[in-house]
Amino acid sequence: MNLTFVTRQLTLNHTFAVANSSKKSVENTFVRIQSDDYVGYGEAAPSYFYHENTASIRRVLETAIPMLQHFQASIQLMMDQIGEAIPGNFAAKTGIELALLDLVAKRKMVSIRELFGIKNDRSLTTSFTIGIDNLDVIKAKVIAAKDYPILKVKLGTREDYEIIKAIRSITDKKLRIDANEGWTKEEAVEKINWLETQNVELIEQPLPADEIANTAWIRERVNLPLFADESVKRSGDIEPLAEAFDGINIKLMKCGGVHEAVNMAKTARRFHLSTMLGCFIESSLAITAAAHIAPLFDYIDLDGALLLKNDPFAGVTFANGQFTLPDKYGIGAEPLVDMGW
Ligand code: MG
Repeated sequence: MNLTFVTRQLTLNHTFAVANSSKKSVENTFVRIQSDDYVGYGEAAPSYFYHENTASIRRVLETAIPMLQHFQASIQLMMDQIGEAIPGNFAAKTGIELALLDLVAKRKMVSIRELFGIKNDRSLTTSFTIGIDNLDVIKAKVIAAKDYPILKVKLGTREDYEIIKAIRSITDKKLRIDANEGWTKEEAVEKINWLETQNVELIEQPLPADEIANTAWIRERVNLPLFADESVKRSGDIEPLAEAFDGINIKLMKCGGVHEAVNMAKTARRFHLSTMLGCFIESSLAITAAAHIAPLFDYIDLDGALLLKNDPFAGVTFANGQFTLPDKYGIGAEPLVDMGW
């Protein structure tokens, strides 16, 4: 089993700003695992917020290379062994897990969806994200996003009311709001109760990640459902959130891969929480991997690759926000350029 990896700069169509960060490009690391005649691809999208960067990703991959020589058949066993040797670093682990899944599914001649026994029995629509910007740029972005029936709007600014009014001057389509920890609890109650009158479907992460009791306080005073994002990474985080939130945002790069994302979706159901499948800024490789498990989720937010100017992979495609998976084995995403592995 031969693992190689390459880091690439992915440029965004617009500077992407949210309440707690801003960026023009991201640096993701792509993993290629070859065994016999089969090749599997994976991707790691590090987040400074979760203490990962290109250097830490590359260190984890170097550490994992000798361990992968002992890979037998169980991806979960392999990932457990890597998890024991290397704490945290869930984006790096996602890169490895996706490449192993791609390889194993191709060998078995099934897609990732089939590997997990997931039925493709309903149409799925992703939201499209509108980042924080000045009001004219926001309006231009909303016009450019006319094909997407649901927008996810980033708030947590001093201009939140103006942003929504600017969007409402153009469209009445359904909005999801992500405050990215940007509000105080009193501010959240006031804004959420107004947003309820603006065809808003849900509110994500109103308060800083660790303010669970304050989020429960907000929940008693508003009607819109509250979703955790920064407050939840893995299954073990879910139970304490159930009193404060109505749903959770699950992302491959936060939790360590497809197995844990599926596990989290099941755990969330046990605690009567709704589920959203989200993403970081990722190429069509990791987005396609996530799209395979999308039927397990109530809300889909897989627009990461749609925000890119130079997506190096092709896989899942979108039409009016509804996505279609490639008819291929494994993840089904292929490089569009010479990756220089
Ligand atoms: Mg979020």
